Amino acid sequence: MILVFLGPPGSGKGTQAKKVTAERGWPQLSTGDMLRSAIANGTKLGLEAKSFMDRGALVPDAVVIGLIAERVLSPDCKAGFILDGFPRTIPQAEALDLMLAELSQKVFMTVLFDIPDSELVSRLSGRRTCLKCGAMYHVVAASPKVEGICDACGAGLVQRDDDKEDVILKRLAVYHAQTAPVAGYYDSQRKLRKLDARLPQTEVLGHLKSLISN
Ligand code: AMP
Repeated sequence: MILVFLGPPGSGKGTQAKKVTAERGWPQLSTGDMLRSAIANGTKLGLEAKSFMDRGALVPDAVVIGLIAERVLSPDCKAGFILDGFPRTIPQAEALDLMLAELSQKVFMTVLFDIPDSELVSRLSGRRTCLKCGAMYHVVAASPKVEGICDACGAGLVQRDDDKEDVILKRLAVYHAQTAPVAGYYDSQRKLRKLDARLPQTEVLGHLKSLISN
């Protein structure tokens, strides 16, 4: 099953994707994680992407389309996967449909994580991320057992540069201008489902599971 998780930064789509992956085995394909790992490895692609990411802008479509086009060919994607943070523009959504058509596959459902901007600023500015395994915490709402250390892998936690308030506001503006129209793209294909991402994580997961199994 191929699922697209769509929503503004901080809406919880990455956290929920990890939970569904753990239960159902479909890998989580996060372009944000792929780009951060390219930056950590000092690759040319990472260097190119960093300047866009640091200022809250989108990385060029060709770069992220290339990453996903390669990743979907991996054997672990055969039974399905969850796209988290891709597509973020209409051209990316169109490129995804084309690449899946070549593999005789298609998006099964797009889930929109609906949440007002006012909630996102506090969620994102308190967020702490493990750059090694991608686990996410929040200084108030979901703190790790030992401050600054990832419960899952023991690596240090950081505040991402793009989780600082001025960049958050830019990312939200970019979301509304460039990514929100992607919901309309899937709605016109009758594949869009919405969930209330303000609810507690367990309720969001319950809603998600009922969407997937119906
Ligand atoms: P995320 O971890 O999904 O919030 O992504 C962090 C940053 O990576 C974004 O603010 C963009 O700069 C970049 N990025 C991630 N996914 C995409 C995408 N599909 N298209 C363009 N830029 C992306």
